[in-house]
Amino acid sequence: MNPPAIVILGEASIPISRQIQAALPEALVYGLADRVQSIVITYDNFGETVRELFQAGTPIIGVCAAGILIRTIAPLLSNKWQEPPVLAIAEDGSAVVPLLGGLQGVNDLARQIAAVLQVAPAITTTGDIRFRTTLLSPPPGYTLVNPDDAKTFIADLLAGATVKLFGEAPWLENSRLPIAEAGKLTIEIIHKSQSQPTSTPSQDCLVYEVDIDCVEPTQGKLAIVGTGPGSAVWMSPEVKQILESATDWVGYKTYLDLAEPLRKTHTTRHESDNRVELDRARFALDLAAQKRTVAIVSSGDPGIYAMAAAVFEVLEREAKPEWQEIEIQVCPGISAMQAAAAQVGAPLGHDFCAISLSDILKPWDVIAQRIKAAAQADFAIAFYNPVSKQRTWQLEKAKAILLELRSPETPVVLARNLGRPGQTVTVKPLAQLAIEDADMRTVILIGSSKTRIVQQRPGKQWVYTPRHY
Ligand code: SAH
Repeated sequence: MNPPAIVILGEASIPISRQIQAALPEALVYGLADRVQSIVITYDNFGETVRELFQAGTPIIGVCAAGILIRTIAPLLSNKWQEPPVLAIAEDGSAVVPLLGGLQGVNDLARQIAAVLQVAPAITTTGDIRFRTTLLSPPPGYTLVNPDDAKTFIADLLAGATVKLFGEAPWLENSRLPIAEAGKLTIEIIHKSQSQPTSTPSQDCLVYEVDIDCVEPTQGKLAIVGTGPGSAVWMSPEVKQILESATDWVGYKTYLDLAEPLRKTHTTRHESDNRVELDRARFALDLAAQKRTVAIVSSGDPGIYAMAAAVFEVLEREAKPEWQEIEIQVCPGISAMQAAAAQVGAPLGHDFCAISLSDILKPWDVIAQRIKAAAQADFAIAFYNPVSKQRTWQLEKAKAILLELRSPETPVVLARNLGRPGQTVTVKPLAQLAIEDADMRTVILIGSSKTRIVQQRPGKQWVYTPRHY
């Protein structure tokens, strides 16, 4: 397929087109010649350009009213099997509307774009919504043999018919299709090498041919991914790709909600309580052992006070034989301390350490001793889990230990809700650090004796720790 074309009408749409390119790096931006200056590809006539792109099968992302696109393309609509995806995006990014090209994955494209714009895509395809799969655009490796029968078949399904499945197709097994042994309808999967299906393709029987070399492997996979502190721009392309291809997501509800715009129709959510990390790890390993492609979702980096260690702990302790073949992968994310440091400059620019103030999994004595040692060694320190509803005194104690060894003037960075709505970042001297400054969504950076505040201009200051002594 050609790279998508983002078609814009004026300079005001440049920022939104850049955001869309963050989701689709291969997309090209087309701008109206006398209205936009900063664009590589320009056009003179909107209608002609859009129609040419459409006829060439290029996915079209119009940053304009849906009506304009509809009227422009209307004369060309004749064969839905050949229509490329066409989407309308509101100029302020508040709406993503898939219009055409359901068979070429327009809904998935809409989900990808909506994810970077942090809105819900306006998906209206009943089959997609109800069955969480599109029979007409199967995943790579599968080809529908009798597409002309699909319309009636899907209409019957929507009217309540059940379907029996012959052959292996994880994307169908994991969907919400009403699969039943006594189904009136049939879906049969045949291998490319197999010359004839057992059933006759008809309006009651869809047949898919599968080319096993092109199908994703069916070995169980478990990826432990970090989504960054919150904002989609801080999520790595690797993590996005894994979240989109997973059959299952496992994680704390808040983190799954943050990733929700990336969820494809074939992906099932498994929410869990934030406290039961080992249970969640075991559950995810068991799912992967059933040859599913599982993503455990952590915020920030999955290896920092998060799920990766929990998975390996369960793997070591319980060592179930069926877990041996699972392909495990850990995908890094931007941790809260990095995002916090970047907001104010470079407070972690030299040697530093991280300490969690939570005494749920380790005794307070160990924490107190570690804070003291870090202060003696003159590390800059990142405090995770500084306060929670149940843990209200630890931060005061930590401050008292620090003040024995570090100046009351030491810069302290308090970063709350990084990358999420309501982000606040404040800098104050250690002496003024108070319990009300923090909650469970705050990370605190304590400067070393070398950490400095610099004034760039009136009203703009930075915090950094020099690398030279
Ligand atoms: N794996 C995460 C840390 C999980 S521990 C990471 O690498 O960032 C949870 C603690 O992380 C919170 O108590 C808080 O101290 C910090 N944290 C996580 N997300 C944050 C955010 N968006 N803003 C500020 N602090 C955050």
